[in-house]
This record gives sequence, structure tokens and C-alpha cells, in this order.
Amino acid sequence: MTELINIKGIGKTSLARLNQNRIMTVDDLIRTYPSKYRLNEIKSIHKMILNEEITIEGTLNKNPLVYYIRKKLTKMKLSLLIEGKNVDVTIFNREFLKNSLFVGDLLVVTGRFQTPSQLMASDIVKKQNYLEGIIPEYKLEGISSKLFSKWIDYALHYQFVQIEERLPEYILKKNNLLEMNRFFQVVHHPMTLQDVEQSQNRIKYEELLEFFLRLEIMKSEHKDTFIRKKHYDIHKVKEFVSSLPFELTEDQKTATNDIFRDLKSNRQMNRLLQGDTGSGKTVCAAIAIYAVVTGGEQVALMAPTELLALQHQRTLREYLTPFGVNIAFLSSNITGKDRDLILDDLKRGQIDLLIGTHSLIQENVEFKRLGFVVIDEQHRFGVHQRKALRQKGLSPDVLFMSATPIPRTLAITIFKDMDISSIHSIPPGRVPVITEMIQYESVKASLDRMKDEISKNHQCYVIVPLIEGNEESSSISIDEAFELVSNGLPKGIRIGILHGKMKSQEKESILQSFYKNQIQVLVSTTVVEVGLNVVNATFMMILNANRFGLSQLHQLRGRVRRSQTQAYCHLVHDGLKEEESRLDILCKTIDGFEISEADLKYRGPGQIFGEEQTGIPRFKMANFVLDQQLIQIAIEDASLLIQSCDEKSVELKKQIGKTFETYHLD
Ligand code: ADP
Ligand code: MG
Repeated sequence: MTELINIKGIGKTSLARLNQNRIMTVDDLIRTYPSKYRLNEIKSIHKMILNEEITIEGTLNKNPLVYYIRKKLTKMKLSLLIEGKNVDVTIFNREFLKNSLFVGDLLVVTGRFQTPSQLMASDIVKKQNYLEGIIPEYKLEGISSKLFSKWIDYALHYQFVQIEERLPEYILKKNNLLEMNRFFQVVHHPMTLQDVEQSQNRIKYEELLEFFLRLEIMKSEHKDTFIRKKHYDIHKVKEFVSSLPFELTEDQKTATNDIFRDLKSNRQMNRLLQGDTGSGKTVCAAIAIYAVVTGGEQVALMAPTELLALQHQRTLREYLTPFGVNIAFLSSNITGKDRDLILDDLKRGQIDLLIGTHSLIQENVEFKRLGFVVIDEQHRFGVHQRKALRQKGLSPDVLFMSATPIPRTLAITIFKDMDISSIHSIPPGRVPVITEMIQYESVKASLDRMKDEISKNHQCYVIVPLIEGNEESSSISIDEAFELVSNGLPKGIRIGILHGKMKSQEKESILQSFYKNQIQVLVSTTVVEVGLNVVNATFMMILNANRFGLSQLHQLRGRVRRSQTQAYCHLVHDGLKEEESRLDILCKTIDGFEISEADLKYRGPGQIFGEEQTGIPRFKMANFVLDQQLIQIAIEDASLLIQSCDEKSVELKKQIGKTFETYHLD
């Protein structure tokens, strides 16, 4: 295959720039689609409206004059003859053009008329260099769209990549889609607005088709598996339930009954338990875990991060240790003798419940009689884990828990192969978090609120989107956040830092201090998103809130909804008006189901399910809510394709099946 460097105009520097933009191959190049299009059109001077941008053409009728105003500021004055009229044109910082402009040249000028004969220009080009029509604009770091467009043209013209149509003929015909060769021409060089629409339609369709086809593949891989029913001691289970310091909510009861029905049946459980953080999913899981243990079988509980796994360990020990359940914890940080001991006990059946990260099923861990697996945060796990289990020859009942609930209709579409239980109600007596938007300029008001809470001996979180500000330079870093807080609060307040790159011992010790109120303010990245349960924390400040998805913000604020004390969440943002209306949804509702639906509307499933780890792609163009019609077609076509055996369809399925195994987990 031909390489990028073989394209005329691409040298070492350009290649490095391309690579920085994650364009490594010619294929990547031509698959980088315009982020928008600009309409380049020369208008007649009669169409001119004062102070509105216009592009016109005219003939230079005097030599331009250049004025040096100060360092880095020059002004050039030109006189143009436009449709028989003399117009004075002014432009800043283009003095370098002077020597290439000659009287008689035909020029194209973009700018705003200040009076009918005076034009303030933003751009001047010679007519022969001006591109008319619909001009693609690419969103790239350090590469101009014009140059990029040239490279693409070159690659397409000399057929540097073989463009293969991956969609079967009947799919193309049925949906009137652009054929691939034509698509690349059209997407990079549309002649009409209809071209733009057609090429975007193909991109959206393909994104959606891929998504739904992947679901179909998943579904077809998961056939009902029949396993032995679980036996458990119902008296002990009842005793456990009645020992709880509260009564289960109706939704919890329904969900628990669903789970027990699965345990009792000989069909393998594949259930998703979804509900907001704090809705009481873990309790339901604990009841089921205990039941399985009373039947003499082992249980594994996996969480996506070690932090969350540790948190689960703490909670479940509280619930289950008094009932004689033997619990062990395993992670990649537990090594050597300690590890051997646990593995040995596990194999001999001495351990009833093993808690840890996904390494529980990936590494060389052997159970004596594994009957039940609980997987927290299903959106980060899922198919892989089930596959891994099956590859180990295990087929335990599997319960997924998700604290990112989505509306039922959608859940059925997305998790076609799972049974679903939803907990809508929140246990009684909890006071909803008061959520407010705060402009970054007013962050002081937020710090004052924090001071207030601390003076009541309450604790606070400060959340930042990234560990270092390098990815998005304008977002605040954790160190900057620390500075902001320590400068904004009186001396002597104990502030701690927590982030994902810390060693797990360090993390655990910070967490312990936070639990014990030795740390009063915890400045953290989103590692606290799930699981952390500090009842005394009543205030959360989220910096750069507009960088987060709504579901994620909702998750985060769940950390301060842990008690009956009034809690507050401040969404500090530097966002625009549109973003304010998005964030406002959080101020108005605490229903996670509603929030995830809004997320879907604004940004697509990537926002809800996370981006890489899910197997659910981020759509570049398709919108889950706005493109309903295309979605319906894609769903239909996916089920059509899954049954098709023609060469193209089979190849497509193979391709998509593959991409989905390569999603990494951590
Ligand atoms: P989730 O796993 O959905 O985040 P948990 O099961 O951890 O929720 O429950 C959150 C908190 O609410 C825990 O402290 C738990 O003891 C408490 N809780 C759970 N169910 C109830 C209930 N029905 N009534 C009162 N408190 C409850
Ligand atoms: Mg939980």
C-alpha cells in the first residue's frame, strides 16, 4: 500500500503533523471527513449590505500603499474598480502581498463595507487562486484545510488506496446510498448542498448500521445456556433480609424477585440491574450473593476499578461477614504469598465471595464451584467478561449492575440480549441535592459555600475532568484545582488529592483519611465517580462541568446524596449559552433515566457509555435521538444482514465482529 509520505506535498514535517492528528495512513487521510463546509460565492456589489460580510471581485487600479503602524501591525490600502465603481479597500497585516499585486490584477476580496465606497477586508486573493463553490473545512491541529484537501485529492486521484465497497449492493440500492468511490469524491468535494446531505447520510447510516449489527452479533453469540439451578436456604435468606436496618423499596423487591427467579431457573442468568447511584442495587445483589453462598456455591464480584472494588468490599463485609460469609479481595496489587494463599483457599472452596477487578476472571484464578458473578458498571464490561468466563469453561449466573440507567425502550434496543430490572425509586428520606450552575468568574461564591459546609464539619469534593491539563489545554488541571481551593479556603483546612495514576496503596490511604474526616476537602479526578460512600460529604464542586456528559455529572453528584443532610453540587463552567441549557437539566431533575435520555439527545451514546471501553462507538455524525428514521432503517438492515450469507454481508460481519474484540478494557 502507498504511504502518506508518497503524497506530493507531504514531507517529514507534514507527516509528523498528520500523525499528531492521528492520521497514520492514506486510509485515515481520506476517511477524515470535513467537519463543515463553507460556501464560497462571489456576489455582485449591488448585494452589499453595510457591515455584513460579502465576497466580491474587482480590478486593482492603483499600486497598493503600505503603512507601518507599529510592530506587528501594518495597514495596506488598495483601490479597486468594482462594476464601474471605485472602492477603497483596507486590510491589516498583509503587507507581504504588496509585491505580488499589479495594477490590472483581478482580485477577490472578502470583507465588510463600512460605507458604500469603503471596504474593510479580511481576505484578498487573486481571482485565479480563488476556489468557488462548497469548500470543505477539516478540523485539524496545525494543518490548513486547503492543504489537507489537496493531499486528499492527490491520494484519490492517483488511487493510493483501494476503495472497497463494504456494503452489499441490495443495501445500497434499498437506501439510495452513495457508492463508496463516489462517496469519497462527494464528501470531499460536494458540488451541491444535496451532495453534502447525501454524503452525510451515508456516514450516519454506516455508523448506525455498524452499531446495530454489532448488537445483532452479540445477540447471536449469546444463546440460552442451561445450567444447574441454584439451591439456597430460604430461611437464612429471609433472616438476612429482615436483619437489614430498612425495608426494601417496592422496586428493590421486584428486582430481587427477578434475580431469584433467575437463580431458581436452569436458564443462565444474564440480567442487567439498573438504577441511580444510591437507589439500592448493591443491597439486592448482596441478598442474591448470600443466597448462592447458602447453597454452597462461590460468588465473584467484579468492579471496573480497584477503588470501586475496595468500596464494595467494605460494604459487603458489613452486610455479609456477620452471616458467616467468607470474603476475600484480589487485585493485581495483591501478589506473592498473599496471592497464593487466596488462590489456594479459593480452589479449595474456603472463600465464598471473591471481590476484585476484572482480573478475577482474566488471570489464572480457579474457583471450586463458581455459581454466580456480579459485575458492577456493566457499561464498562459486558460482552468481554461473559466471553472470558465462557472461555474458562464457566457458565455462572451473571448479574450486571449499572448506575447509568437508561429509559426502558432504549435499554431494550441497546441490551437486546439481557433481561432488565430497573430501580426507579430512591429509598425514602433522602433529600435531593441542590444543584446550581456557577460561571467560572463567580467561583468565589462556590468557595464560600464550601467554607460554610466545612464550618459545619462537613466534607467536600472538588472534581476536575483530567489529571493534567494537557489534552485540552484550556481545562483546569488537578494541581490548579488544588491551588484554587487552598487559596480560597482559610489556612489549616486539610485538603487531599486523589487521581487514577496514584498507586493503589496511596489511593487507599487517601480514601481512609477522607472516610475518617482527616481530609476535609478531596480534590479528585473522576475516579470517585462510582462507589465512594462518605456520608459526611455534603458539597461537591465540579470544575469545567461543561466538559462532562450529563450522566457522568449525575453520577458524580451521587457522591453527596448519601445522607439525610441537605447537600449541594456546584457545576462550575466556562461554557456557552447552549451548554448552559444542557447543564440546566441537572438543576431541574434528579431522575437518572431522564438525564441519560437528554445526554443521548445532546451527544449520543458515547456520552453515556463512555467512549472506548464499551464497544459502543462514538458517532461522528449520527444522533441517537434526531436520526430516528435512519435508526429504524439501520435496525431493520442489521437484522437483514445478520441472516444474509452473500460474500459482502459475511465479510462485513466478520469485520465488525473483529473490531469489537479489540476494544480494550482498562
Ligand atoms: P447502589 O448500589 O444502587 O448505589 P446501595 O445499595 O449502595 O445503592 O444503597 C445506597 C445506600 O442506601 C446504602 O447506604 C444502603 O444501606 C441504603 N439503602 C438501600 N436500600 C434502602 C432502603 N430500601 N431504605 C433505606 N436505605 C436503603
Ligand atoms: Mg453501588
